Amino acid sequence: MTTQSRPRVLIVGGGFGGLYAARALRRSDVDVTVLERGTSHVFQPLLYQCATGLVSEGSISSPLRHLLRRQKNAHVALGEATTVDPGARVVTASRFDGSTYEFAYDYLVVAAGMQQSYHGHDEYIQHAPGMKTLDDALTVRRKLIAAFEMAEALSTAEERRPWLTFAVAGGGPTGVELAGQIRELATRALADEFRSIDPGEARVLLLHGDDRVLPSFDRKLSAAAQKTLDTVGVETHLGVHVTDVTGTDVETTSKAEPKTVTRYDTRTVLWTAGVEAVPFARQLAEALGVEQDRSGRIAVESDLSVPGHRNVWVVGDLMSYQDLAGVAEVAMQGGRHVGSLIATDSSDPTASRQAFRYRDFGTAAYISRGHALVQAGPLRMSGFLGWVSWGVIHIAFLSGARNRVGTLINWAATLATGSRRERAITFGDPETARRPYR
Ligand SMILES: Cc1cc2nc3c(=O)[nH]c(=O)nc-3n(C[C@H](O)[C@H](O)[C@H](O)COP(=O)(O)OP(=O)(O)OC[C@H]3O[C@@H](n4cnc5c(N)ncnc54)[C@H](O)[C@@H]3O)c2cc1C
Repeated sequence: MTTQSRPRVLIVGGGFGGLYAARALRRSDVDVTVLERGTSHVFQPLLYQCATGLVSEGSISSPLRHLLRRQKNAHVALGEATTVDPGARVVTASRFDGSTYEFAYDYLVVAAGMQQSYHGHDEYIQHAPGMKTLDDALTVRRKLIAAFEMAEALSTAEERRPWLTFAVAGGGPTGVELAGQIRELATRALADEFRSIDPGEARVLLLHGDDRVLPSFDRKLSAAAQKTLDTVGVETHLGVHVTDVTGTDVETTSKAEPKTVTRYDTRTVLWTAGVEAVPFARQLAEALGVEQDRSGRIAVESDLSVPGHRNVWVVGDLMSYQDLAGVAEVAMQGGRHVGSLIATDSSDPTASRQAFRYRDFGTAAYISRGHALVQAGPLRMSGFLGWVSWGVIHIAFLSGARNRVGTLINWAATLATGSRRERAITFGDPETARRPYR
């Protein structure tokens, strides 16, 4: 590490929270290091479109170094934070090759986000990828495309059926968006491309524990979403928990008594049913002597600092504060707030700290072509109007002008022709790629 006299700000995580905290410090006399386990800032809200071949992974992500290239006080480090020593003010991280290095800090901002939760059943991961990272999206894409290809290569309807059955666990925004997109992929993009199968026969099961999809939305909006899902052919099963996932089927158990257990033969199970804190959060909480909530989030004070640690903040999905939802706006505003607090504190440590006030600009969810929901304060939009608003919001927050233009072009082409061009799949590393079918 470089020796320096300026205050050192270490930001763990280059998602929305971390990036906005770093940017808020661009004019400050501090040295900022963004420690990120991947090389890119990923726009998670469009991961499901990447998974279903609508947009490329490059158009929903931007290299962090590129995003921060003009911010001369900012450094980017590739590594995964593993431990923190609050006494010594040092974070230890794993490098890409597994070796470790240390980062000394005066201010620490943790914006490491959440990961998919399998609720104690991590054995499901191998069969049911989640939807939180670029790796997840590309794995899901591979599973989807391979399933249609497998079905085409089989000779009987019975053999094909499990390959043409897709189960999505979780009826929140990501599950709903993913289920709708799989039906669109099957009925529009792939419609004329196969000779033995009719991709439109793809059965998409949406498995959800609640009594309605999108429970975080107003009841009327979630009813509108359900209607659209029915219209596009998604088969929704409410009030059920997924209780087993294998490589060949998925089991659900009804929440209501008497318990009904159902098994569906399927080769593709996708998991969007819940999130939990990333592993670093646990070590952080232990080292700082603070509690985590049931999902592993860390409770913060009104200025978003960790209780008893005025120089450590948690922002974004990982923070637990006033029941704020895990959405991009909360992370962006939180990151910005903490960045400006540090800017003030680094020049005047006696300055009083302002409490974080969240301005709710609402939430949105895509259902299918021409249908989306937007809920902002008293405003409720669904159908076409919601869809247009959804598009404007997402383009506005996508990082990089090139990504915005590229995504708009892709959307327009898909809208006009139904085609999806981002369907390339890879087999993995060169060794597996050489013998992919073993
Ligand atoms: C599929 C999907 C769809 C979504 N749709 C919407 C939507 O439509 N609207 C909306 O507002 N929100 C949406 N969200 C939520 C939104 O993306 C999150 O609220 C937001 O990304 C949170 O930002 P964050 O900075 O807290 O965490 P993240 O964006 O998750 O960033 C955390 C970063 O920390 C890195 N990291 C993790 N652990 C470590 C470590 N130990 N060391 C170093 N780096 C680490 C990760 O690699 C990641 O880059 C969606 C999320 C998903 C997954």
